[in-house]
Amino acid sequence: MGACILLGAGAFTSSIAQTMTFAPNVVVAHRGAFKTQHHPENSVAALREAIRLGCTGSEFDVHMTADDSLVVNHDPEFHGLPIEQSTYAQLVAFTLSNGEKIPTLREYLLAGMQRNTQTRLVLELKPSKMGRARADRIADQAVGLVKELQAAAYIVYISFDYNMLLRILQADPRAQTQYLEGDRSPAVVRKDGITGIDYHYSVFQKKPEWIAEAKQLGLALNAWTVNDVTLMTWLLDNGFDFITTNEPERLLQLLQERRQQKG
Ligand code: MG
Repeated sequence: MGACILLGAGAFTSSIAQTMTFAPNVVVAHRGAFKTQHHPENSVAALREAIRLGCTGSEFDVHMTADDSLVVNHDPEFHGLPIEQSTYAQLVAFTLSNGEKIPTLREYLLAGMQRNTQTRLVLELKPSKMGRARADRIADQAVGLVKELQAAAYIVYISFDYNMLLRILQADPRAQTQYLEGDRSPAVVRKDGITGIDYHYSVFQKKPEWIAEAKQLGLALNAWTVNDVTLMTWLLDNGFDFITTNEPERLLQLLQERRQQKG
């Protein structure tokens, strides 16, 4: 945690390189910090709130439209329109509940890089229902955009689609990647070059030996979606690197209480 990373193309030759230090906590706001301030999930407003709170990460979900726009939304539908079979123009006829339009990934990343030197952008690539070739294209396009925007230092890619993560690593071997499904052992994931596991917490309850195994292999450890203090405490006691939560304020508060108890 708290790794210093050089940003910017030509970081080694240019004096304008920026230094970034991620917040030294484990808090990843799931779909942004949406709940307390009543922001829509996956809105730019929720992302900005996660950054304002000082979360170490803010998670969001990415789909591709029928005309190849990458957009940020959780469900595969938006206002009843299947995103994969709708054009971007059809989607922007509707808004989020706060009046925002559905963010493109470009807009979302640009917003996330603004006045932010501490919050990772945790980019979930949603699986495509339209076949492997399209899934590969989604992964390629996401990595291409991240490169174009020089956003790589911020990004952790996560997915339930193992092959999408492998595709990302082909395009960017240094990418941070975490697998979500929970059906592969840390050793298998590590062998394939994926850098972390982000499993439902119940997977770690059933297979607690995977925690030590992942640490031994140098994998990042993340769990979703943890909203309960007892569970948060269990994961903190087990040294998790990240905890993905709908309740980032609650987890930040718990971390503060634990620091005070120790101090
Ligand atoms: Mg997600």
